[in-house]
Amino acid sequence: MKIAVAKEIEVCERRVGLIPDTVARLVKQGVEIWVESGAGERAFFTDEAYAAAGAKIISDTAQLWGEADILLKVSPPQEREDGSCEIDSLREGAILLSFLNPLGNPLLVQRLASKQVTAFSMEMIPRSTRAQSMDALSSQASIAGYKAVLIAAAALPKYFPRLTTAAGTIAPAKVFIIGAGVAGLQAIATARRLGAIVEAFDIRPAVKEEVQSLGAKFVEVKLEEETVAAGGYAKEVSETSKQRTQEAIAAHVKTADVVITTAQVPGKKAPLLVTQEMVAQMKPGSVIVDLAAEQGGNCACTDPGRDVVINGVTIIGPINLPSSMPIHASQVYAKNLLALLQVLLKDKAINLNFEDDIIRDTCVTHAGEIRNARVLDALEGMSASIS
Ligand code: NAD
Repeated sequence: MKIAVAKEIEVCERRVGLIPDTVARLVKQGVEIWVESGAGERAFFTDEAYAAAGAKIISDTAQLWGEADILLKVSPPQEREDGSCEIDSLREGAILLSFLNPLGNPLLVQRLASKQVTAFSMEMIPRSTRAQSMDALSSQASIAGYKAVLIAAAALPKYFPRLTTAAGTIAPAKVFIIGAGVAGLQAIATARRLGAIVEAFDIRPAVKEEVQSLGAKFVEVKLEEETVAAGGYAKEVSETSKQRTQEAIAAHVKTADVVITTAQVPGKKAPLLVTQEMVAQMKPGSVIVDLAAEQGGNCACTDPGRDVVINGVTIIGPINLPSSMPIHASQVYAKNLLALLQVLLKDKAINLNFEDDIIRDTCVTHAGEIRNARVLDALEGMSASIS
């Protein structure tokens, strides 16, 4: 059985599916690993390091994709420069493990099904204790939260910490974090380490204690509806709740030096939380980093992939932040894949046990069918909006 690691072709993607250390672990288990030549280059892992770990380096992309039993990737498959599609290079019955953005791009899932590929979406790993080691959304969100604070600190024309110097006392920066999930909590911890005063808000009241335990103040907003959906994720709330939230957070946005927004609702456009009016009220020199930029943005002024300056307020909408730290992002992602592979493999052979909730929830296509109800709903929604 061959497990292959593809070289990413997405321009902004510097991560790689396996790093030499995880290759060595799989080789030790008796698995044959193929790595596409140059796959780890942008994450600083050389072909030589993969070869030393026991991988076979493959220069022929078509051979790697066409002969793999299991293909490992980071970004969803896409079209190549020559117009061919990566998916079409897979053989029928091959297994693909990758981020697939299945709710945002259900047509890709449909294409994988029609190609008879068994595809596992890393976004669909259940948020259970047993699956924690495979949770790639968390491992990558944590990196994004950390990096967002560094970007904000670099853009802020001020210190973060309180300083007492011979030239006077410097007041600490005030940071307001909106959305206290995995990215938000890491952002709180990082901003605190840099010495800022931190406030945070989330519509899930359950995160209050976690926020406080990291040394931040929790901003409470009383909403008259359930805000938590199945699996512990946030729900999309009513217009009334959205308005109440905006009113409640406006004062905190106004006084903040840095606002970091991370609010998301799976499968939906990101909620708009920071309005143009709020940005207009902020002090010149303040910075907003919008981690939801790719999902539509939490700030009305966000332009994904660009820095926008309005009345002296800089609004940064970064794209694929985990890829900007490709060594550690690849290291933890490779560990996530390794853990999932341990569930998929038995005695060096593929064991697709759909009774196992990890396999059942994560597998989006098998034997020509789309297996995930939410992806089918998303496809139906698309065809309804076309007709
Ligand atoms: P996410 O990326 O989907 O969303 C980020 C945050 O935005 C969430 O905390 C969400 O509540 C918040 N949010 C959504 N709408 C908002 C709004 N209108 N205003 C303010 N905040 C809003 O979430 P995530 O970080 O991937 O984690 C979501 C949940 O999953 C959390 O409960 C987390 O504890 C849980 N989780 C569990 C495990 C596990 O058990 N293995 C692992 C990771 C995460």
